[in-house]
Amino acid sequence: MQQHFIANRWVAPSSGESIPVVDPSDGQVFDALARGNAADIDLAVRAARSAYEGAWGRFTAAERGRLMNKLSLKMIEHAEELAQLEARDCGKPLKQARADAAAVARYFEFYGGAADKLHGETIPYQNGYTVLTIREPHGVTGHIIPWNYPLQIFGRSVGGALAAGNACVVKPAEDACLSLLRVAELAAEVGFPEGAINIVTGYGHEVGDALVRHKGLDHVSFTGSPTIGQVVVRAATENYTPVTLELGGKSPQIVFADADFDAMLPVVVNAIVQNAGQTCSAGSRLLVQRSAYEQVVERLSQAFAKLRVGPAALDLDCGPLIRQTQLQRVAAFLDEVRGDGLAIAAQGQVVAEAPKTGYYQAPTLVRDVPVDHRLAQQEVFGPVLAAMPFDDEQDAVRLANATEYGLAASVWTRDGGRQLRIARQVRSGQVFVNNYGAGGGIELPFGGIKASGWGREKGFEALYGFTVLKTISIKHD
Ligand code: ADP
Repeated sequence: MQQHFIANRWVAPSSGESIPVVDPSDGQVFDALARGNAADIDLAVRAARSAYEGAWGRFTAAERGRLMNKLSLKMIEHAEELAQLEARDCGKPLKQARADAAAVARYFEFYGGAADKLHGETIPYQNGYTVLTIREPHGVTGHIIPWNYPLQIFGRSVGGALAAGNACVVKPAEDACLSLLRVAELAAEVGFPEGAINIVTGYGHEVGDALVRHKGLDHVSFTGSPTIGQVVVRAATENYTPVTLELGGKSPQIVFADADFDAMLPVVVNAIVQNAGQTCSAGSRLLVQRSAYEQVVERLSQAFAKLRVGPAALDLDCGPLIRQTQLQRVAAFLDEVRGDGLAIAAQGQVVAEAPKTGYYQAPTLVRDVPVDHRLAQQEVFGPVLAAMPFDDEQDAVRLANATEYGLAASVWTRDGGRQLRIARQVRSGQVFVNNYGAGGGIELPFGGIKASGWGREKGFEALYGFTVLKTISIKHD
């Protein structure tokens, strides 16, 4: 059984209980996690506090950065091991898991490099005063990580927090923890002091809740569903603990008739198939100008029909979903689609070698989805793309903004003025023009508006969120 990693030591859960770890590719249990509770969280928060007030807190910014870079290099050395763990634990095709392992190393490189470049300002004020601002760490930060990209989200969240000087308590998702336990061990090996990075595993409503409610916590960074995001905010409010939220989206891909379809098609397919659609910034809505709609749907259908789904190790276009309940959730959306008489334009294929006990969903393209249909409004978190036509720019913007989410969007057109008009009017945290990063781009601030969340992670911007600003006013005459 895996244990918690607290103060650079493996610690057995005080409950003595475990949680089975299931391989989504075949539905079989292959390991067990520690089932943490409030006592384990208390231990981890205290360890983080001691680090913050002790050895870790004494590191200069440059020293923090250097150590983060050391960890980045260590992660590169262990990239294949981390990728294999991630692929098995999450059911990701190996190429995706390898990209994730490379990304976590890059996050630590990026934030390691940024650690000593986070400056305050001086502010012109009345005669006889000098006023300056300094950016201080929150102290102990909590990180609630989902199962879709454990390595990447650890990188963006914990990477930013450490660079800013915080000590971290990490609660990975109960469905996928293994890679992060290994990363924490590697961090200890390269010299992170005790308590700088602590990992407590377990169920969200037990350890996650205990972490958010802990009085010793100074900030929470949560990535997950809007429902749990609201639960986290309510719990954090009790102690006035600030929260950063990244809650997913229903991101539109807006295609005009003058777009370069050859460039657009593979990107639009990847945006919904990557990680089996279990991506916060999945491009899950396709809006196409009416004059090109039939042509685009036809070409996309051909691409979807070629997609192959299978176990992580076969490294196909798409792996399984994370668990049985997620498969049921996606199936319920598709039942509703059929029940409402919507047309499924195309589906990919689950390969014959895929174990029957795995959680496979064929990528599905649904056409002519009404804007108010559940498939056009709610996050499926599976490889299901909802296509709909629009008439003109105004109509495209209306449809793009017609959900409660606002995380990312793309616009495909050769018209430069239109690119900017659409980019300015779409209400979301990121807009890609003639490309789509599916959230990619470590350097690019990422986060949403409306139900997609609060605050920004990634890029330099994230560092501001992991600090608090102090103003010092000095009177000197
Ligand atoms: P999903 O539906 O994608 O599993 P969740 O929002 O349920 O997303 O989970 C995201 C993360 O939040 C996971 O690490 C999960 O364990 C955690 N979590 C779930 N419930 C709570 C809670 N009540 N308090 C804090 N964290 C929670």
